[in-house]
This record gives sequence, structure tokens and C-alpha cells, in this order.
Amino acid sequence: MSFTVTYIVLKIFRSKEFRPAYKRLSEIRALVPRGTPLMACTATATRSIREEVVRTLEMAHHVTVSLSPNRSNIMYLVKKRTDPDTDFAELLSTLKQSLVQTPRVVVYCRTLMMCADLFSHFSYEMGDSQYFPPGAPRLSDYRLFGMFHASTPQHSKDVITADPHGVVRVVFASVAMGMGVDLRGVNMIIHYGASSSIEDYFQASGRGGRSGDQAQSIVYWKATDCPLRKAPYTTYHREVNEVRRYLENTSVCRRKLLLEYFDDSKSARPGSDPTVCCDVCATTRASQQAPRHVSTSLDPAEEAELLMNVLSCEDVDSPPDLSSEC
Ligand SMILES: [Zn+2]
Repeated sequence: MSFTVTYIVLKIFRSKEFRPAYKRLSEIRALVPRGTPLMACTATATRSIREEVVRTLEMAHHVTVSLSPNRSNIMYLVKKRTDPDTDFAELLSTLKQSLVQTPRVVVYCRTLMMCADLFSHFSYEMGDSQYFPPGAPRLSDYRLFGMFHASTPQHSKDVITADPHGVVRVVFASVAMGMGVDLRGVNMIIHYGASSSIEDYFQASGRGGRSGDQAQSIVYWKATDCPLRKAPYTTYHREVNEVRRYLENTSVCRRKLLLEYFDDSKSARPGSDPTVCCDVCATTRASQQAPRHVSTSLDPAEEAELLMNVLSCEDVDSPPDLSSEC
């Protein structure tokens, strides 16, 4: 059998696991006639990554077409991670009250163990109400939350991914499966623990709000998630340090920081509505609108004396005495 190659389309994955493979993609060009058009597609990538793709694929005469990675309907928030009891109290409360009406949430976990721990915590807290409708069989098909990782049975994955309005409202996914969880109708992305790179974090966050509705991307983190590294740096150390700087930031708009990271200088600015842009913008706006309190340093005796002086000057029936000190 013979065939003719008219063009090549490559989808380049950014994740580190694919790097050794895609560095050999240029070998494909040796198998097709010279001059065969080549198109390479990648998800959100920095300028240096794009240049690396061009160089690796030996694209001598290329045209780059790129779109802004800005997702204006996603609000970025960062919180300190304490314990599941505290961190998930609000989500559990919503799930108990709203059941299948709960907006869909994906919780990315750093380890499989963490996935299992959170699943067990929700199971304990929800009790019999974790199955819907009430009285439904105690099967994963009827549970309001589920796990999504490499060992999850295919049937359970199908149940989770099939219907955005289905029973499963909260999905605990391992970060290793981050790129593989293709869910629709997700309104909230939670990273329970810091990501290993800004790229991974941003791409996983982009799983939310795909319908165009307002969505939130929340990171719960501890300093031990991403300890600061000192020179000499490896690529891994540099990426961890960038994540750490993003998470520790409390003064610059997070959207601006993320877009600057991806060299999108045109869009790298705060969102038009600070209340849904990021936690930094929302906090800044709230503090600007808060009523200002004027405090005095007078002690109670001084305040009483001042009050008496004022009262002694108040005599509405008398014309003001301009010679008085009052
Ligand atoms: Zn902002």
C-alpha cells in the first residue's frame, strides 16, 4: 500500500513527560518529501518554548500564529492550605444543600494518596446523602463526587465525563491526569497543593469556565509544597521558584503576572472588573471602598474635657462671641 503525505500536523504537548519524545519529531520530516508543509500546535506556551519548538522541528521559514491566553471569565485566588476539614467546609456545605445543583468542581491533587484522602473525607462528611437521588444504590454512578486518575475504571471515567449536568459534581483528579480530564461545565478549579510549574497550573485552570460562565481557579498551598531553590538552578528549580513567587504575591494582579509570564504584553493588565479578576484586585478594591475611621490619641479624661469645652460654647440663643477661644 502506498500513500502521499500532503502536510503534517503535530500537536506538541508541553508536559515534561513528553519532552524526550517531541525532541525527536523532526525525524518525521526525513520520511516525507522535501517541502511538505508542517504545522505544529501547542497549548499555552512561553516565548522560549515556542522558539524551542521551531528550533527542534527545524522550521526554517515559519509563520507564528498565536492567541492571547487570557481567560477573562476566570478569577484567580490563592489561599493557605490548612486541613480538609477547614479548606473544604464551604464546598461540603454547598454540596449537602444543593446536591446535583452544585456547580461542577475539579480538585487537582498532588498525589494519589491525597485524592483518596479527600474522597474519604467527603464520603465521611456526606454519609448517606452522598448518593443521589435519595435511596439510590450505593454505586459510583449515583455518588455526588468521584475520583479520576490512572487507576479509575473506564466505566467510572465515562460516568464522570459524559454529562456536565450529571450526578458527579466534585471530581478529585491527580495532577498526572490533569491534561486528561476533559470535563464540560466546570465552574471551579481547585489545586490542592502548588503546581510544579506555571504552565501546568495555567493549563489546568483553563479547564474551568469553558462554557463562558464566570469561573474560579483557587490554589490552596503550603510553603513546603514548593521550597525556594537557590543556584545552581535546574529547569525544575526555576519553575518551582516561579510558582512560589506567584503564590506569595499579594500586591500585583495575578492575571497580569500570569500573562506576563506567557509574554502576552498586550493583555498583561488587571481585568476590567476587580471583583472577579483575582483576590489581589478584589482585596485592593474592598480596602479602597471601606469607610475610613479617624482615630484620636486622646485619653478618656482629655476627651471629657474637650466635650465640656464644646458644650460650654453651644448656646444657640446667643450670638457667637468671636473673642472666645471656642
Ligand atoms: Zn487581578
